[in-house]
Amino acid sequence: MTPLAQRLAARIARQGPLTVAEFMAAVLTNPEHGYYMTGDPLGAGGDFTTAPEISQMFGELIGLWCVDCWQALGEPAPVHLVELGPGRGTLMADALRAAKLAPGFLRAIRLHLVEVSPALRVRQEATLSETPLAEPPRWHAHLGAVPEGPLLLLANEFFDALPIRQFEKTPHGWCERLVRLDDAGTGFAFTLAPPGPLAALIPPALRQASQDSVAEVSPAGTCLGVEIGRRLAAHGGAALIVDYGPTEPSGRPTLQAVRRHKPQAVLEAPGSADLTAHVDFAALAQAARDADALAHGPVTQGAFLAALGIAERATALTKEATSAQSSDIAAAVKRLTDPTEMGELFKVLALTGPASRPPAGFAALRPAGEA
Ligand code: SAH
Repeated sequence: MTPLAQRLAARIARQGPLTVAEFMAAVLTNPEHGYYMTGDPLGAGGDFTTAPEISQMFGELIGLWCVDCWQALGEPAPVHLVELGPGRGTLMADALRAAKLAPGFLRAIRLHLVEVSPALRVRQEATLSETPLAEPPRWHAHLGAVPEGPLLLLANEFFDALPIRQFEKTPHGWCERLVRLDDAGTGFAFTLAPPGPLAALIPPALRQASQDSVAEVSPAGTCLGVEIGRRLAAHGGAALIVDYGPTEPSGRPTLQAVRRHKPQAVLEAPGSADLTAHVDFAALAQAARDADALAHGPVTQGAFLAALGIAERATALTKEATSAQSSDIAAAVKRLTDPTEMGELFKVLALTGPASRPPAGFAALRPAGEA
């Protein structure tokens, strides 16, 4: 058993089965043994690769998107630029390099990085050490610690790491899925809690779902959506949330574990693999609307990056590239935008204050899933 598995087994023996959210929170962010707390899981040598690690173009285009939003807001200074779960800091470094085109923007930025992992904070500090900002970046454990004010917020593959609860539709109604010790006492298995009055927790699209359907909800994600929406409604600004998931929940479980770029059973060797679930964009957009913000999209990542000019950026980079670099650039564009790769599964949701027009990339695009 992993050290974390031993902890979890002792906890279950003491207090009974855990909700999937309790299990997931411990696996990912237990202060001593949590998956994110101890190392750097990103990149070819790690467990998974994210869009900013595929190509600098991703962060550059998002940096220009931020400049555009800031200008549309009337160039507030200071403006809080916040990234949730910045990983290695790659997206932010690329974004700020592209934003050098607008020196006033760089002067106005107060940079806040919301990061739970001490190991990744160190990595982010190194990546961002050369960045020319008026004030050094600040790190926070949660968004609530960021000062109030005009806000630009970025989150790439962050919401998929927030703990989810799972509910299963049985002949007796909705039952919460729990994690128990397996019969040998050395591993974990799913079990169901007795049915309860859970209907209000089920996403609207799944309330009439057929038997055996599974609904996933992220209380932490919803609360964060409300908090982002509240700040945008109060102070103005824009948020860009990029993640994988459908526009409406499917009724199937999406919790998955990935280790060394391969799927692993979700309850196996907890702490040794990344654990994520599809983001429910409909729920996230609704949470922000409940706090009086506007939601735009979601649109597919492929359509978003195309609208922001990834093809033109690739052409410009290719002009100064060797032929090996040129084929890397073409491969990166394909990986980020092609519907068979990240282009369609990944979605982009923008949230803004109530008085805003749709931000760049959203104005002319139909939301994903609409004909
Ligand atoms: N955005 C980066 C990294 C994605 S991995 C990229 O695209 O490459 C998820 C990131 O969120 C990691 O930095 C992880 O440490 C952080 N994270 C996960 N759960 C968190 C939580 N509850 N609070 C703050 N940060 C968290």
